[in-house]
Amino acid sequence: MTQPDFIAASCADDYDPNAMPVDKARHFIRQYLSPVTCQESLPLRSALGRVLAEAIVSPCNVPNHDNSAMDGYALNAKDLPNAGTIRLTVVGTAFAGKSYDGPVEHGECVRIMTGAVMPADCDTVVMQEYTKADGNQVTIATGTKPGQNCRLAGEDIRLGQVVLPVGHLVRPADLGLIASLGIGEVKVYRKLRVAFFSTGDELAGIGTELKPGEVYDSNRYTLYGMLARLGVEIIDMGVVRDDPVLLENALIEASQAADVIVTSGGVSVGEADYMKELLNRLGQVVFWKIAIKPGRPLAYGKIANAHYFGLPGNPVAVMVTFYQFVRDAMLVMMGQPQPATIPMLSAVCTAAIRKLPGRTEFQRGILRLTEAGWTVQTTGNQGSGILRSMTEANCFIVLPETCGNVEPGNTVQVQILEGIV
Ligand code: AMP
Ligand code: MG
Repeated sequence: MTQPDFIAASCADDYDPNAMPVDKARHFIRQYLSPVTCQESLPLRSALGRVLAEAIVSPCNVPNHDNSAMDGYALNAKDLPNAGTIRLTVVGTAFAGKSYDGPVEHGECVRIMTGAVMPADCDTVVMQEYTKADGNQVTIATGTKPGQNCRLAGEDIRLGQVVLPVGHLVRPADLGLIASLGIGEVKVYRKLRVAFFSTGDELAGIGTELKPGEVYDSNRYTLYGMLARLGVEIIDMGVVRDDPVLLENALIEASQAADVIVTSGGVSVGEADYMKELLNRLGQVVFWKIAIKPGRPLAYGKIANAHYFGLPGNPVAVMVTFYQFVRDAMLVMMGQPQPATIPMLSAVCTAAIRKLPGRTEFQRGILRLTEAGWTVQTTGNQGSGILRSMTEANCFIVLPETCGNVEPGNTVQVQILEGIV
């Protein structure tokens, strides 16, 4: 990243210094993100939540052998009755894990269980329901097509097939899929290292008594939680006072230890001036007023090789800006080229929402499934310092920039928090 790029971002024709649209800020950030490249090999289970650095290529066919999809009788399709019934001699039984290895002649069949390897000479399984057993004889009725109820080798996955690409985030089903190929070790990208600290002279640590004017530092706990859920390596640098020297030292230390630096506080009007001066000296950082509520001030850029996100200090704004800008950026830096977007749903508002056009608002909402479908209402007071609104919410009600007041019965879009928080 070079300085001119940032100047261009600030001077582009349609750039409004007072209100950078949310999508534009996201796109701007996206173009500078560099994913981690270091790889490590991990035992399969440890790869959960990590990003594949090497594609998973199947070393075998799945299933490995032709096998039965049903309990019934395996036979050669030539012995299927064209009409009426046919009587065959049962010459053996094939179980899952215990095959029948003998020959199967014309007029013969094998009792077979689901998952058992198909005996040589057999290509079809007649479901038990279409048969009638009588000693070592079985009567087969019509209704089965040649090849039916038989799973062919390589039907699910072929030898040499790429089953999971580079950049894939490993989820529980992937662990099973990789295990089903007999692979016990996988290559993933190393964890993204994220250093974070809170800024503010008014911040007190939990477990201490509050002095007048102090507030407990809660941002470091929500940030810890959000980062931990992403599966990154966390470097907690505590609270840094609003002191240029201390801030400079902390930023330099963070840039040496981490791929990403996240701070809260210090980017609002009034506080931002010396942060701006400091960050201009240390790297290339832009300060934005984003057309978003809550979370208007946001700083983004690079300090040495580390990406820097300067989030606002208000506790709800920290969480909103994290989910709308930082989370997605981190998923890219973890090695996922196209992270899944946060799921959106249409829901009917059950109560009015006050909103002025001009900013995209992320109001905290309670989403419910009713007989009439999904409904939503806000959690109440939407002040950006009211963290309770986040704990009560199960969604963000996303109100676009141009949207004004919402009336009861109007449909809105919501982002579901379950699964991302
Ligand atoms: P700032 O962006 O630094 O001006 O902070 C905005 C508001 O957020 C102020 O009321 C701060 O007291 C509050 N705040 C800042 N940092 C934290 C924090 N780490 N924990 C809780 N509240 C904070
Ligand atoms: Mg502050």
